[in-house]
Amino acid sequence: MPSPPHLQKEISQSAQAVATRIEDVEDFPIPGVTFKDMGPLWRDPVLSKRAIGAMILMVEEAQGRPDCVVGIESRGFIFGPAMALHWDVPFVPFRKQGKLPGVLNRVSYDLEYGSAELECQANALKPGMRVLIHDDVFATGGTARAAMQLVEACNAVTMACTFIIELNGLNGREGWPLSSVNETCLSLVRYK
Ligand code: AMP
Repeated sequence: MPSPPHLQKEISQSAQAVATRIEDVEDFPIPGVTFKDMGPLWRDPVLSKRAIGAMILMVEEAQGRPDCVVGIESRGFIFGPAMALHWDVPFVPFRKQGKLPGVLNRVSYDLEYGSAELECQANALKPGMRVLIHDDVFATGGTARAAMQLVEACNAVTMACTFIIELNGLNGREGWPLSSVNETCLSLVRYK
């Protein structure tokens, strides 16, 4: 069902405002990469709250409330906890290898050069939980796909993913593992 026009308007106006506070940094962290610096957004509390509110609206319109919010290390830890607190649901960090104690679930995934691992505590997600995954940037989609595999390894269900920005040119939506990509891959700002 399409969202009411006033909600769509708030989401698109928030996205426009957020886009003005994201700065391109050429050749960082390596030559040829244009880094999307969200520092100016994060330093603006009014706009940050608006961005979080807009992502919450997108999620509720598409999928309803989650049972849990997962944030991907490290920039998924900035807005992810705020969304979890809004819904009064647990926040679960998915961390890089070697950071978490106890019994862990783990997935490996390929990077452009080499590979990486994401880990979570094995008891952090309960079987059947409807999980919202949050990260700052959706680029090739490799990190988000690994996070979805880790949710599955915990016998929970990814209901959607939210991103502050999506880099369209990298075709991250190809091979998206969830049904209805437009209802489950929720990016506030989409760049060509
Ligand atoms: P990917 O797995 O290719 O979708 O990359 C997503 C991850 O890499 C996210 O956790 C981002 O924080 C980071 N990332 C990728 N590309 C950029 C970029 N151009 N600017 C800032 N962060 C990026």
